Amino acid sequence: MSTRKRSILLRDLKNYLIFLKDYGYSEIPSELGSNLKIQSGTNKKSNYSIGIDKRSNMETKQKLTKKSNISIEEVRDELGDCTRCNLHKDRKTIVFGSGNPNADLVFVGEGPGADEDEQGFPFVGRAGKKLTEIIEKGMNLNREKDTYICNIVKCRPPNNRDPKPDEITACKPFLIKQLQTIQPKAIVALGKPSASTLLGRTVPIMKERGNWYEYEGIPLMLTLHPAYLLRAYTIENRRNVMNDMNKVLKKLKQ
Ligand code: URA
Repeated sequence: MSTRKRSILLRDLKNYLIFLKDYGYSEIPSELGSNLKIQSGTNKKSNYSIGIDKRSNMETKQKLTKKSNISIEEVRDELGDCTRCNLHKDRKTIVFGSGNPNADLVFVGEGPGADEDEQGFPFVGRAGKKLTEIIEKGMNLNREKDTYICNIVKCRPPNNRDPKPDEITACKPFLIKQLQTIQPKAIVALGKPSASTLLGRTVPIMKERGNWYEYEGIPLMLTLHPAYLLRAYTIENRRNVMNDMNKVLKKLKQ
C-alpha cells in the first residue's frame, strides 16, 4: 500500500473514532451485530449525543399515501441510456439512486464520483462511507431500508468538478420525478450545489444549513456535504451536521 493511501486510511480511521465519540459511543460497534449494548443506555454518552435509544424504529413504519402514480422504475426507464447532456460522454455508469423508494427520508447529493461511476451506486466512496456512518451510527437508521439516496446529476462530472448549469437543467426533471414518486417526509440536501438546485437560488450553505425549507411542500433540511466534512473535520462542522440530523429525526417522528 502506498504511503498516501495509508495516511488517508489512518486519517479516515481516526475521523471515524472521533465521529463515534461525538455520537456518544463508548465502544466500536460491530458491523454485523448491532450496537445493542450501547442502545440499552448502559454506556455513558457524551453530552451532545443524539440519544439513539429513544428513537423509533423507522423500519416498522408504513407510508400511508403516495401522490405520484408512476414508479421509480418507470422514472429510471424514462431516463434510459441518457445522452441529454455532455456528461454522458465520459461516464461509465448512470448512477440513478439507491435505497428504498418508499423511504421517509431522501438524501440528495451533488453527482457521482469515480467510485460511484465505477459501481453504479451513489455515495459508495469515501464521502459515501461518511454518509453511511452518519445515517447508521449517527441516526440509527438503516441506509438501504430507511433512506433513498440520489444526486442532482446522474453522471460523473469529469475530475469531480461541480455540475454545470446546463447539466443540472438536463438532469433535474429526473430528480424531481424521483422526489415526486417517493414523496418522503423529509429531504436532506447535501452541500451547496444540491441545496441551490432544490431551492432554485444560490445558497450560502454555511449560513443556511440547519434550517428547514420546503421543496414542493416537502420539508427540506440543508446540511454540509460529507466530502466537505471529511476535508474540514472540525468539531464545529461535526456538531453542526449532527444537530442538523437531529432535527431531521425529530421531523420524521412528527
Ligand atoms: N458525492 C456526491 O455528491 N454524490 C455521490 O454519489 C458521491 C459523492
